[in-house]
Amino acid sequence: MKKKIFRSLTIVTLLSTFLFNIFIAIFMYNKLLEQEIANLKNENNYILKTIDENFNINFFKNFTSQNRITLINNDGTVIFDNFEDATKMDNHLDRTEVILAIDKGLGEHTRLSATLGEQTYYYAVRLNSGQILRTSFTTSSIFSIFFNSMPVFMSISLVFIFLMMYLSKIMTEAIIKPIYPENPDIYDELLPFVKKIDSQKQYIDEQTDILQQKIIEFDVISKNIADGLILLDSNSNILSINAQAVNILGNSQIDYFSKPFIDLTRIISIRESVKETFLGKYSDNIIEIHGKFFSFRFSPIINDEKVLGVVILIVDNTEKIQAEKIRREFSANVSHELKTPLTSISGYAELIKTGIVKPCDIVPFAENIYNETSYLIDLIEDIIKLSKLDEGVGNFEFSPVNLKIILENIISRLENTALQSNITISHNLINAEILAIKNVIQEIFYNLIENSIKYNKAFGSICIDMSQNDDIVEILIKDTGIGIPNSSINRIFERFYRADTSHSSEISGSGLGLSIVKNGIYLHKGTIDVSSEENIGTVFKISFNIQK
Ligand code: ADP
Repeated sequence: MKKKIFRSLTIVTLLSTFLFNIFIAIFMYNKLLEQEIANLKNENNYILKTIDENFNINFFKNFTSQNRITLINNDGTVIFDNFEDATKMDNHLDRTEVILAIDKGLGEHTRLSATLGEQTYYYAVRLNSGQILRTSFTTSSIFSIFFNSMPVFMSISLVFIFLMMYLSKIMTEAIIKPIYPENPDIYDELLPFVKKIDSQKQYIDEQTDILQQKIIEFDVISKNIADGLILLDSNSNILSINAQAVNILGNSQIDYFSKPFIDLTRIISIRESVKETFLGKYSDNIIEIHGKFFSFRFSPIINDEKVLGVVILIVDNTEKIQAEKIRREFSANVSHELKTPLTSISGYAELIKTGIVKPCDIVPFAENIYNETSYLIDLIEDIIKLSKLDEGVGNFEFSPVNLKIILENIISRLENTALQSNITISHNLINAEILAIKNVIQEIFYNLIENSIKYNKAFGSICIDMSQNDDIVEILIKDTGIGIPNSSINRIFERFYRADTSHSSEISGSGLGLSIVKNGIYLHKGTIDVSSEENIGTVFKISFNIQK
């Protein structure tokens, strides 16, 4: 508005200056013309008086004038002209002013001069001798006066323009000032508007505050939820994205705000789902990204049957999906593991039932049935233990447990088994108490020490070392056994997995022991590591936090 008023005032100033100059120019021209004509007539009268009294052609030759003076005979021939050679000039009897002067004694006329080629004013008077005295001047002489005064005019005009512009600026500010509501001299006519604008401004400010608050709340929520959250506008541009979503799909170095969604991910199934969501459809998808399983929920934001945007919620379901996979594999393995000994038991029992077995074979058959049944019982016990650990049910009460006492107890229980294979067990135990589930801790170390005997060589050895560092107690179980092949070391904690070595088929086992160990240790927030070299031996390192 300020600019517009200033611009208008400037235009008015320029226009008025221009028009003023034009009027002045016209006025001046007319004034000058009048002045020139009066001068010319005076000069003409002066010459007239002088020559009428005493005519002498030399008078003309000596007379100097800026005006043109021509003496013409009454037959039209030019006798004298102070601008041109009179002998070369045309007969002037046809000139209007000459005709008028001959006829009426006086004539004047303005036209383009045939001799000078310029607009010329002529004034002719008849002398007593009948000759015509004609004086004239060209309008260019007026223009030259006019142009000579141009610089002065221009300067005055420029000063005037600058002055007016300065005044326009001051006036604009003076006009605008009362419009501002904070000004006490506000225009009365504007008061209702100002009040309305004021109350609207207040309302907008309040709404902006609420909105700001909501944005902060949304930001805090989206930052703190464990899941990825993305908000797209109707053009598929990213309105909001939390760090979790960026970590899953994009590059944490890039600021994705207001970037197109396709800049975030090139995964086709996600992009297709977004497209479908913009058609108003809800959809769920499980997508594997970098070895992890994420469930994506695409929801349209609908208002008045129009899709205004899309919300994408990304939940990391890797553990759930893997647990389901393990459970499926576990049930399949359990059926298989149970089927083999049961088939064998049923086979022996059938043979005995038919009576075709010799009496001397009955005892070994019964022994086989007994062994298979024992294996079955062990297997079922292991399965029960594992599922209890999985589900977290059973006698899982944490109480202070002295690891030294537990280990001594297990060693003494297994010493005889070790001796049968001439395996020696040495140990270096310290008093260390942890908060633990006693029977689970017993199970863990029983399985590990039993394995170090099972997978040892005749005349081998086992060494159990305990140490404490700050809050951590560490137990090393080293054996000089058959070792674990490199290809199997990462899988030995899987359920039913048994490393494939030349000796392993001779050693009985279900492949569940280390799964129970691993789950038991995790239940106590401990860690287990294994290092092994085939035919040299294996070391299991277990650590627990000490309860102080
Ligand atoms: P298993 O009933 O077969 O002993 P585990 O889960 O206890 O089942 O062990 C899984 C596999 O890990 C075993 O089959 C064996 O191949 C390997 N293993 C475990 N402990 C040792 C060890 N101390 N030395 C060599 N191999 C071992």
